[in-house]
Amino acid sequence: MNGRILIVAGSDSGGGAGIQADIKAVTALDGYAMTAITALTAQDTRGVHGVHAVPVPFIRQQIRVVLDDIGADAVKTGMLATAEIIDAVADEIAPLAGRVPIVIDPVMVSKGGQRLLDEGATAALVARLLPLADLLTPNVPEAEALTGLEIRDLDGQREAGGRLLAMGARAVLMKGGHLPGPEVTDLLVIPEGEIYFTGERVDTPHTHGTGCTLASAIAAGLGQGLALPQAVARASAYVDLAIQTAPGYGHGHGPLNHSH
Ligand code: PLP
Repeated sequence: MNGRILIVAGSDSGGGAGIQADIKAVTALDGYAMTAITALTAQDTRGVHGVHAVPVPFIRQQIRVVLDDIGADAVKTGMLATAEIIDAVADEIAPLAGRVPIVIDPVMVSKGGQRLLDEGATAALVARLLPLADLLTPNVPEAEALTGLEIRDLDGQREAGGRLLAMGARAVLMKGGHLPGPEVTDLLVIPEGEIYFTGERVDTPHTHGTGCTLASAIAAGLGQGLALPQAVARASAYVDLAIQTAPGYGHGHGPLNHSH
């Protein structure tokens, strides 16, 4: 086992996304997953049926005790639910910035359309978390919300990625799954240039939790000492196989397969 990964995110009772996907991905990649849970969701493959936020002081406490005792080699944040939680999480992880890689997955809305971040909280994400991000992992709707740009194609992805770097993230992985086409290109934008990760699109409804899984798999790689492009490449391959071998559970968007 290699790499202590602190995940700050929400729970998915259906086991497909959120903290559950994060733990499965980190464990499958031989890391050690620790969690500070920000919110509970009552959720299945059909959608999010309820959200119960954790009191902010208790979120702080989860992060503090784990860092004090065990420490972390990388941090990943996912669903943060409210601006108040974003502020608290930023306070708690800021001392790690520059010492430990921080991956920020700017989770906003589930694939089924349910909000996982309050509408007014985007400004807090930009002000407090972007500057801490060694890597930001937005999908197209998230990148649009963060930058105000409209993204239609790879050129739009490049422009938005550059904007997010200028806004303070040290690297941005622009996920291309929402753009049309037979292939999916994720674009890694770093100050030195751009790296493309292109794969065949798998025609399946079972993609629940891909964003959480990818970000956690990257955090595991960074915590294990991989360089960013290698961590992204390994994580992409992991997610691709997890989609291709998804078990098809439930009646909606089913979970991935983490046992491969
Ligand atoms: N539930 C939780 C707790 C999440 O963190 C996320 C995504 O980050 C989702 C649900 C949404 O997952 P998806 O959009 O892949 O269905």
